[in-house]
This record gives sequence, structure tokens and C-alpha cells, in this order.
Amino acid sequence: MIRIEDVIEKVERNRPNADIDLIRRAYLFSALHHKGQKRASGEPYLVHPLEVADLLAEMRLDEVSVSTGLLHDVVEDTLVDLDTIREYFGDEITLLVDGLTKIAQISNLSKERQQAENVRKMVLAMITDVRVVLIKLVDRLHNMRTMQYLKPEKRVRISQETLDIYAPIAHRLGMGKMRSELEDLAFQNIYPEDYKRLAKEVDARRPELEASLDRIKKVIEERLKENDVPYVEIQGRVKRLYSLWKKLKKQKIAIEQVYDLIAARIITPVGRKNCYLVLSVIHDVWTPVPERFRDWIAIPRDNLYQSLHTSVVGDGGQAFEVQIRTVDMHHIAEEGVAAHWKYKEAKLGSKEDDESIDELRNTVEKLLLPLVENSKDEEDSVDFVETLKLDLFPKDVYTFTPMGKVIQLPRGSSPLDFAYAIHSEVGDTCTGAKINGRIVPLKSELQNGDVVEILTTANSKPSRDWLNYAITSKARNRIRHWISEQQRTESIDIGRKLLEKEADKFRLSPKKLINNDGEMKRIANEYGLGRPEDLFASIGYGKTLPRNVLAKFLGAEKFAELDPEKRAHSRIESGMKAVKKFIGMGEDAIIVRGVDNLLTNRARCCNPLRGEEIIGYISLGKGIVVHNKRCKNVKQLMVNRDRIVEVEWALSEKDEIQSVRLMVTTENRTGMLAGITNAIAEIKTGIRDASASVSRDDKGLIEVTVEVFDKKHLDKVVSAIEKVPGVRAVERINAI
Ligand code: MN
Repeated sequence: MIRIEDVIEKVERNRPNADIDLIRRAYLFSALHHKGQKRASGEPYLVHPLEVADLLAEMRLDEVSVSTGLLHDVVEDTLVDLDTIREYFGDEITLLVDGLTKIAQISNLSKERQQAENVRKMVLAMITDVRVVLIKLVDRLHNMRTMQYLKPEKRVRISQETLDIYAPIAHRLGMGKMRSELEDLAFQNIYPEDYKRLAKEVDARRPELEASLDRIKKVIEERLKENDVPYVEIQGRVKRLYSLWKKLKKQKIAIEQVYDLIAARIITPVGRKNCYLVLSVIHDVWTPVPERFRDWIAIPRDNLYQSLHTSVVGDGGQAFEVQIRTVDMHHIAEEGVAAHWKYKEAKLGSKEDDESIDELRNTVEKLLLPLVENSKDEEDSVDFVETLKLDLFPKDVYTFTPMGKVIQLPRGSSPLDFAYAIHSEVGDTCTGAKINGRIVPLKSELQNGDVVEILTTANSKPSRDWLNYAITSKARNRIRHWISEQQRTESIDIGRKLLEKEADKFRLSPKKLINNDGEMKRIANEYGLGRPEDLFASIGYGKTLPRNVLAKFLGAEKFAELDPEKRAHSRIESGMKAVKKFIGMGEDAIIVRGVDNLLTNRARCCNPLRGEEIIGYISLGKGIVVHNKRCKNVKQLMVNRDRIVEVEWALSEKDEIQSVRLMVTTENRTGMLAGITNAIAEIKTGIRDASASVSRDDKGLIEVTVEVFDKKHLDKVVSAIEKVPGVRAVERINAI
């Protein structure tokens, strides 16, 4: 079994200045918490983190990575939480462990094969630091190497995930060796029969293939020496089983037809010129297959791979591939971004090193981005925060249903967006949400990896203020649609009641009118509307006056005969007229924000005055009733938040007059009423009526109704009255 001292020795050799104490502490912590746990093989669990740390040390990664390797499964598999890790090891290691734990949770959750694409994106979304990728790949590699003790189903699942997610990431990062090993191990576990058959076929040819390779290598060596062309090493290889298998399947060919079943690889000293020199020698010895030549040196692959590839026809007509590359190109081909640590880094902590790490982070980000669907905005990539930090998904978050289905949402989404993304009915009946098992407000912002559970109640309905925290268009459209539906239902109700009231004034049986479907339909059609409901809605929205509907119902003659306005004219008293007036005025004076043509009325309880802050409440039968924001009734109405609408005063073209009643308390002496009405008249304000009485405690009480334009005007009136000698108090009646 591997020992921590072996790991430490490697780190000390590669990085003389490394903080070895950190690694020792991480080891002790990991040993303590994994104590008693066993791997499927029966070995102590600790072997796994130790091997991972060893592979990381081998890759010459820093002590933080090696320590994280030791700790990477502690949060996932023991009772230790992230806070404890932070307490012992600080923020940097905590962030790395957190990333690794989240990735582990994703693969536990996602069992649906078809989600591979999404899961890969989620995993990438969790990678916020270059080192997280490398540690995760090494973790996966060790698990793949030691999976023979697991049950077949589990081996298949993990292997499939490796093929879908980790091998492509390794490939993108140019880590050829890692990718090959992951793929071959996965292939072996997912398709054991195919693997065995193909391995047998290749093995049967192996002596022959290896003999060919030896001959080829010998010829190359001789000819290079003859021509004085420098080289470092000549390698021969038989094609890997997984890539051979894929090729056979895809091209439906036999193994004999595979051009690159065997390949020779020539590693040259640094300097691309050497590669072309070698190439010319090779093409001099054997005949190249024209369309099989690739120059990945002049135009590197986008994962930084550089090499010359050529296929030639050997003696006896057998084709084989020759790869030519320099030593450093070879490192990149094998190790990809990990070569950065292994071969490039000379001194640690130097400024040069910081710069190269910066460069590395940019490279990794560039390499991984093609695995991400939505690429970043240019401006986003300018503002890098910390070394090694990655943000591959600035625009999206990846979340889960409790069943493990991945839901991709724009960043800033709330549980409501999630609910509507599942199904509009789930959204409509949503009453709450749990994130990672905890109840949260509906306006919470979802984070990558959150498991979201939506709580629904059968008859629950969307609420108007949901629009404040749903950001996806699907959710917003549904909520808006629902609000307008609801408004329509309400306005049908309101319209019907208003029409009933109007009919009552004409001494018509309301039922007779409204239940007369044929007549209602006829009138609706006259307005260009289809059904009676549309007519009621139009009345409710304030677009159609109930009076006009009655005119159409009764015909001009009958209407004039029954018109209550004419009948009542003679006996209207001044006070009543005042009340009538302000109801009549309400209709156009107030704008309801965001909604057109809603019927509005001033609330009687507070009689809001132009200039005062107001709020609207959808009241059945009255349309929108407008209250003063400070009215004591508003607080109670707030219980039905979804019926509150924002309203504001319309800009009026002409000054509108509103009646306000005032109660003036005075000393009990003669001439008070005259003094007050005089003061009011002096500031050119109309008086609708005024009366005086004496209270039981011997004060003068003067009730006066004045006609004002707005709040400012009223304030002026009040202060004029207050200046009259003998006046003690002025109070607004019918108001707050
Ligand atoms: Mn692990």
C-alpha cells in the first residue's frame, strides 16, 4: 500500500518550497475521518485519496492540489462539513473540495443517460478552478483503474459517464494519455464482449504487428542517421482498442483496412524544422498516401495538439502511420494542460510563474468553452478575478428536479422559473419551494447544482407580484396571461353588476335585461363584440357605458321616458349632488399603471385628492377603487395583495373640481360662519354648502363643503380658514 511519505517525497523533489506541513495535516484529517471505511476491494478507503494525491504529485501539481486530493471525498463520504474544512484548511482548499463534492453529487443524481450533454455542462459549471478539473480527472482515473470490484451495473454506469463527460474533458484539455486510458477502461466495462473479441483479434496479430514495427523503426533509425537528421526517440504503437473499435464500427471496415493500426512516432529535438526534415526522409523511403497527410504543426488542433501525421505504404503493401513531433509538442500531446506544471514551471512563486498561471487559466477556459453551448460575451472575459478561477457559464445555472432531471435556466432564475420550466400547471399552482431540502422564499436565486422541489396546491393561483421575481419568458408569459384572464373574469363580473345597477335606475328588472341572452348578444354585436361576456367585460373595463347599453336595449323613445337623470333633476339636494359629482369624475382622472381602460372610482372612506399618493384595489362591482395610500382601510386590503394595483393621477387637461367636506371647530360666537365663508371666497374657492351648529361642550361646529382642484388647493383653503380669528381646528371629513 502506498504511504504518505512516498507522496511527500515526490512533492519535495518537484517543489522544494512546498508547504509539506499542509499535506501532512490533510493526510491526518483524511485518515481520521475515513477511518473504518472500506473500498469495494476490501482495502481501507484511505488508499483512494492517497493514490489520487500521489498521481497529483506525479503531475507536479502544487501542495494545495495534493492536499485537496487527500481531502476530496471527506465532505461527500463522511460527516465532515465544509465549514470544518474551512476552519482547518482555509478558503482555497474549501473551494476546491466544494467543487469536487458538487460534481460527485451531480453524478449521484443523474441516472438518465440522455442527459449526458446537460450533465457535462453541469460538471463544467462546477469547475471554478483549473485544479478542480485535474483533481477530478485523476480521481476518476483511479476509480476506473480499480473498478473491477464493483457490480457490473455500477461499472457500466460509471464507465458511460466517463465516456460522456470526463474523456471529452480530458480530450479538450489535450490530455491524450488520460483520455486514452479512461476510454479504454470504459470500453472494457461497457462492452466487455466487444472488448474481448477485439483484444483477441489484435493479440493474434500482435507478434506480426510488433515485428513490423521493429522493422520500421530500424529502417527509420538507419535512414535518419544516414541523412544526419537529429531525433530523440523512435516509438512504435498499436492503435488503442477503443479508437480502433470506433473506427471499425463507423467505417464498417475490417481490421486489415485500418490505415493506422500501427504507427511509428518520431520525437525530435525542439524546433519544428526538425519535424519537416524527418518528414522528408520518411517520404523518401516510403510512398505516402496523398490524402492522409496532416500538418498539425502549421495549424495546431484547437486543443493545442501539434504533430505531423502521414500514412505511407510499407514493404509488402502494408500501410502504417508516422507521427512526427518535437519533445515539447509530445509533452503537450500526452499531458495537455497538465504539461504546464510538469515541464514548464521552473521556479515557483516567481513573477514569471504567476504570468504563466494566468496564461494557463486563459488556455483552459478557451479549451473548455467549446464544450459549453452558450459562449461568453467578450466583455465578460475581460474581468478575471483570481488566478486559476474559471467561469464557463456566466449566463446559466444548472439545477435538478428531485428525480435528477437537469433543468437549465438563465442565471438569476427563481424557483418560479424552475416550476414553469417543468410544466405550466406546476407553475400556476406553485405555493412554495424547497432548495436542497430547505423551504425557501419563491424569490430566492437558484445556484448551480441546486436540487429544487416545487410545492403545489391544487387550487392555488398565480400572484401578480410573481412578475417581480420570475425572469424566464415562459414563466412571465404564463403569469401575465393568467393575470389578464383574471382581470377579464373580474371585469365581466364588474360589468355585469354595473349594468344591473344601471337597469335598476331605469326601474327595469336587472335579471330581465342580463339574462336576456338574445338581446345581450344583439347589443354586443352592435359594439362589434361576440358574446354577452365580452360586452360585460367591456363595461367592466370602462370602455362601454352601461347607460349607452340601456339606450340600445330600450330604444331612444323609451330610454328618454325612463331616464332617471331627467326624473330626478328637480329633487336633487346640494349634498347629494356633490357625492354624485365625484363618482362621475372618477372615470378618467386616474390612470392604472400597465392596464388600459379600467374603471376607477375614488374610495369614499378617504376620498383621495388629486396630488395625494394613491393606490388601487380591484373591488368586485366597483372596478378599481382608488384609496389614499395612507387610508386606514388600505392596510386591511393589503391582505389580498394580488388585487392591489398601482395607480397614478392622470395629467388632466382641464382643471377638475372635487368636493371636500371640512369640519371647522370654533369658539362659540356670532359671525363665525360668515368669517369662514368670506375667507374661502377670498381665495376664489367655491362653496357647495355650509351649516353651523353648537356642540354639547359649547363649541361652534361648522360643516363646509368646498370645491377644490387638488391637494395643494385644499391646503390653501385649510390655512385660510385657520387664519380666521376664533377658529380652533379644521378637519377633513370623509378622509383619513
Ligand atoms: Mn474520489
